[in-house]
Amino acid sequence: MEPARYHNTVDGRTCESATGRWLQSVNPFTGEAWAEVPHCDAADAEQAIETAHAAFTRGPWATMSATNRGKLLRRLGDLIARDADKLAEIEVRDNGKLLAEMGAQLRYIPEWFHYYGGLADKIEGAVLPSDKPNVFTYTKREPLGVIVAITPWNSPLLLLAWKLAPALAAGNTVVVKPSEFTSCSTLALMELFAEAGFPAGVVNSVTGYGAEIGAALVEHPLVSKVAFTGGDATGAAVYATAAKNIKHVTLELGGKSPNIVFADANIDNAVKGAISGIFAASGQTCIAGSRLLVQRSVYDEVAGKVVDFARTARLGDPMAATTQVGPITTLPQRTKVLQYIDVAKAEGADCLLGGGTPTAPELTRGWFVEPTIFGGVSNAMRIAREEVFGPVLSIIPFEDDDEAATIANDTIYGLAAGIWTSDIRRAHVMADRIQAGTVWVNTYRAVSFMAPFGGYKRSGIGRESGQDAVDEYLQTKCVWINLDEEVPNPFVLR
Ligand code: NDP
Repeated sequence: MEPARYHNTVDGRTCESATGRWLQSVNPFTGEAWAEVPHCDAADAEQAIETAHAAFTRGPWATMSATNRGKLLRRLGDLIARDADKLAEIEVRDNGKLLAEMGAQLRYIPEWFHYYGGLADKIEGAVLPSDKPNVFTYTKREPLGVIVAITPWNSPLLLLAWKLAPALAAGNTVVVKPSEFTSCSTLALMELFAEAGFPAGVVNSVTGYGAEIGAALVEHPLVSKVAFTGGDATGAAVYATAAKNIKHVTLELGGKSPNIVFADANIDNAVKGAISGIFAASGQTCIAGSRLLVQRSVYDEVAGKVVDFARTARLGDPMAATTQVGPITTLPQRTKVLQYIDVAKAEGADCLLGGGTPTAPELTRGWFVEPTIFGGVSNAMRIAREEVFGPVLSIIPFEDDDEAATIANDTIYGLAAGIWTSDIRRAHVMADRIQAGTVWVNTYRAVSFMAPFGGYKRSGIGRESGQDAVDEYLQTKCVWINLDEEVPNPFVLR
């Protein structure tokens, strides 16, 4: 079958790349190319940015009321809900995420557009009190300009919604660059903006290799801000490039999140939390609870139950309703995960489950890795320090609250953490002690359009979702009106 072709949208029109070249997108379950996306280069990036800049500075978007911007965002949310099944299936084919998860995600993503659509005309400045006579001072909250939104392959639509909705609510225009591995669902989403009524040029897309067009987008002088999600090495490169022109950045990077089980916890719930933390989405989430810290008195019980539960996980076709664990999204990523498994074995970690690729014939074409659990891990091992981004769990014992907090914080990252306890005092004290942007108590992997999300330490800068996110796309202007008849002495600070 001929691969499906997805197109970019620039200035309200669908388009190929200037050179007419295409990139293949491979289905990680079959290992076969199923679609093609335009292979853009720096010239395409330039055109998309100039278009977005023109739409920001003149034309209907530049003068549109915030109320009307909000209406467009809400209409877009409705269209995404209408096309939820179609978009979900595209992302499953492109990315290997489960249809069960994507169906639910696509019904939830509209909430971001409804929430920020409602917020658009509630962005307020203030009239300031003044210590000086005869001046009137007020602030305005203004958009930044052209935003470049760079998204990774692990959750293309959700992570794009986290950027687009607040950026547009604030009045910016956007150029989107999805990952070369998983561009198709983003390009299908692009088609909905015109139908929702967005003026041409407000949202544009460019597809291709990060190394070819990523830097061209980030360093372009007409770009005011880069909103990036991805690995921390690329994030650092984006940060350095953006710094050359003093651009704003939001960076949502990796994690090595601790999921901490105390002896007083409901153990069966904690086991489910451990499973959801590391095997959902085959562990390819920035919030993966990849370090399971277990109090020593319940270590054997918890480790045994987690292994038993994970052993029952059904690997298979992500389109099938019964599948629980899908393939790894990209071939290089599968190689990387398998290399980390070898490193863990070489460092002396005890492989309690998995540790390779499945041998069932229906799974050999796809890029699967078995759910893998290492016991007796020390926090000094590489498997406990570096982001694997796959279905690989390290179980680390601890004695008491102090040791749990010390191990949990002994990482360069600080994205998320889980705490499993029945003691309300312990829950609050540990939540205070953990250095992470999100702390879940007796649950894991919960996100909401209403709740700010982002990293401490090397996990990132800035917040997505909630009211905090809209601030990331605004700048404050302070206006001074002199009410004096005369201008005072010009040689002294007023
Ligand atoms: P990257 O960080 O390289 O990719 C993220 C995005 O950045 C992609 O759209 C990528 O494009 C783009 N990009 C790549 N190079 C540049 C550049 N020089 N300038 C601007 N943008 C660029 O992630 P990878 O896909 O390479 O994954 C590497 C590791 O990062 C993974 O193994 C995983 O550990 C981690 N990761 C973490 C994520 C998270 O949510 N925290 C998400 C994804 C990965 P393209 O894909 O086309 O190269």
